[in-house]
Amino acid sequence: MKTETIAIHAGNHTDNTTGAVIQPITMSTTFERMEDGSFREGYIYSRAANPNRTSLENVLAKLEGGADAAAFSSGNAAGMAVFQSLKPGTHIIAPDDMYHGLRNQLKNLFTGILEFDFINVDDSDILKAHIKPNTGLIWIETPSNPLLKVTDIKKIVAIARQHNIKVACDNTFATPICQQPIALGADLVMHSTTKYFGGHSDLMGGALITAENSDWWQKIRDVQTYGGAIPSPMDCYYLVRSIKTLPYRMRGHVHNAQLLAGFLNKHPKVEQVLYPGLPSHPNHAVAKDQMISFGAVLSFLLKGGRDEANRVVNKVQLFTRATSLGGVESLIEHRATVEGPDTQTPFNLLRVSVGLEHIDDLIADLEQALA
Ligand SMILES: *Cc1c(COP(=O)(O)O)cnc(C)c1O
Repeated sequence: MKTETIAIHAGNHTDNTTGAVIQPITMSTTFERMEDGSFREGYIYSRAANPNRTSLENVLAKLEGGADAAAFSSGNAAGMAVFQSLKPGTHIIAPDDMYHGLRNQLKNLFTGILEFDFINVDDSDILKAHIKPNTGLIWIETPSNPLLKVTDIKKIVAIARQHNIKVACDNTFATPICQQPIALGADLVMHSTTKYFGGHSDLMGGALITAENSDWWQKIRDVQTYGGAIPSPMDCYYLVRSIKTLPYRMRGHVHNAQLLAGFLNKHPKVEQVLYPGLPSHPNHAVAKDQMISFGAVLSFLLKGGRDEANRVVNKVQLFTRATSLGGVESLIEHRATVEGPDTQTPFNLLRVSVGLEHIDDLIADLEQALA
């Protein structure tokens, strides 16, 4: 089946008892044991499994073309489950502009437990030079946050395979509508479902999707079950509901982003626009090859440095000054401020999450802010 059909049907089933077309929300934390000791549908206790979470995991696995999926209470909890599933002493290679929340997680929670290097994974020589006998995982994020760097997934996978290293890809910016890393050879896909999957800036969640059922995946499932960082049935329900429109929302987001990038790219006060869909993007060719469409987050650098960035971000009226992305409303932020003192982000950079308002209104707002 095609993506639009999967998005609507793979996370839902009609209720056998009442005939409700939409699967009800099962708030119960516990399930009745039958006289013979068995459980009607295998559900025992909601930390281990819940019908709404099962439905969510089913649609997530199918959309990414994976064998199975595990849902978590946030994107960071999903990332944490990956790191906790690795044997202590395992070496991880991660991008130098890895999402700052996960970079901080590794640095603050896993120092002394795991080894890690943050490097430019796009340079094959640098990557190969950092592979050690205990390297177990290469983590990639593409397009990356907030520089919108594009990593060649197939190239990374080819190097990783030679050394028996797993590849995990943070696919939050793209969603499976714009990019499917498992089809390109990745072993694991990670999402902050807080972003496009939720789509309305009103819930937090995370997910992991595996290419195959393996011992490693079982370990990740164990972290989910014993660690307990699971989403509530209510959040799972809202995610399943939002995912039904994900393919159409992404079409609108990408359409607006492409036009906004084109507008900014021609503006005399803009130094550079970072968007994989622009032919001027340094890795546009790779993006074109591996992405279905180019996503809807973009960053732009202003002539005039930090002061000009501050002036523009404070003058917008329709855009909301806020972090995060993937909601229907357009957001803009001064990224270096959000990332804090150890940020590597240029101070004249503004990051935009392009929403679903009419593109003319979005362009008009940035036009008056830049003027
Ligand atoms: C937001 C985000 C995360 C973290 O997800 P949370 O749901 O905030 O925990 C990880 N990676 C990327 C690329 C993100 O944008």
